[in-house]
Amino acid sequence: MRNDELIALDRAHVWHPYSPMPGRTDPLVVESASGVRLRLAEPAEGRAELIDGMSSWWSAIHGYNHPVLNDAVRGQLDRMSHVMFGGLTHEPAVRLAARLVEITPEPLRHVFLSDSGSVAVEVAVKMCLQYWRSLGRPEKQRLFTWRGGYHGDTWQPMSVCDPDGGMHELWQGVLQPQVFVDAPPARYEESYAELLRTEIGKHAHTLAAVVVEPVVQGAGGMRFHDPAYLRVLREACDAHDVLLVFDEIATGFGRTGTLFAADQVEVSPDVMCLGKALTGGYLSMAATLCTSRVADGISQGEVPVLAHGPTFMGNPLASAVACASLDLLLAQDWQTEVKRIETGLREGLAPAAALPGVREVRVLGAIGVVQLDHPVDMAAATRAAVREGVWVRPFRDLIYTMPPYVTSDDDLARICAAVTAAAAAG
Ligand SMILES: *Cc1c(COP(=O)(O)O)cnc(C)c1O
Repeated sequence: MRNDELIALDRAHVWHPYSPMPGRTDPLVVESASGVRLRLAEPAEGRAELIDGMSSWWSAIHGYNHPVLNDAVRGQLDRMSHVMFGGLTHEPAVRLAARLVEITPEPLRHVFLSDSGSVAVEVAVKMCLQYWRSLGRPEKQRLFTWRGGYHGDTWQPMSVCDPDGGMHELWQGVLQPQVFVDAPPARYEESYAELLRTEIGKHAHTLAAVVVEPVVQGAGGMRFHDPAYLRVLREACDAHDVLLVFDEIATGFGRTGTLFAADQVEVSPDVMCLGKALTGGYLSMAATLCTSRVADGISQGEVPVLAHGPTFMGNPLASAVACASLDLLLAQDWQTEVKRIETGLREGLAPAAALPGVREVRVLGAIGVVQLDHPVDMAAATRAAVREGVWVRPFRDLIYTMPPYVTSDDDLARICAAVTAAAAAG
């Protein structure tokens, strides 16, 4: 298909994320991708190739077109691409579940596989509500969270997303009203810890669970906080009979410097959500893990089943590539690679702090963020980055990057230069 034909059809028929119909700006057409390079069907700003600064939204940690991951998909394709999971099972899903239990915090023992992060959060919420119902406490059905979060785009996840993002106003009266406290401060403050304790205690009789992103709040504002708050949440949940859910869909698989963000303080949740990098960015898959306490509670209730079962649950292709991606990650010294990227981002993004209009530059693990003091001019910022040969996707007042772990030092320097150029232009 000719590029202009493709763009015309895209405009006429294809909805893109968080976009009106038709879209106001034309997307770039990607023809193929390999390593950390996206190859464009037609050059943009003189660039036929872009260095990927986004890992396709946290997911492509090993880069694109990876021979090992390609082989895993191909091998599984020749056996079977899919088979239903009701009454049937298969090695890729079983291996994946056992592997996830092995590498996540200790008391997590049971795995529910689904097809996207939002659904993994829906399942987590359903588990928590049903747990309390089974125990004869159906009034415990609200969720507690801090502001600035993002947990997905379906209804329950939306209800715990940051309420100031615009979506809550739009869906007032439709979204479940949950309990919110202020967003966590970057550094540990005893007064904020006290607020968490007090508010959880005050609402405990109606709370099913506390749901948070540990250490890094992603699409809700790219904010970082002291992991010590996770311990405060754990203690308050234990003291007041509330379940604790960690949404590690963005932070999982090494992104923050530890395999899971919860590992930074060795706090274990009752329920954990994984997604995004789970399959190395190859296929859509997510997982909700829970403890035996949660699983037993549900399974001994009046309705002793977890009534959820996506058609493509445990998809063999996705499971196989997820196993291969985990093997690939854990077989290498990924901590050193993430540390190397952290150092590169710190050095490379430091000059951006001096730019007019830049409020803060922050880096944690393989995540670099430049926050402006105004909403970013998306078109101008994107153009500036593309001119530097780099793909980033700013939002709100944020220009940020979370590159694949295989990004070389030279490419990392170019990503930093592009983010800085985008900040200057946007
Ligand atoms: C992306 C994300 C989700 C939603 O995942 P999808 O696969 O897009 O549905 C949920 N929680 C967090 C923390 C995320 O970053």
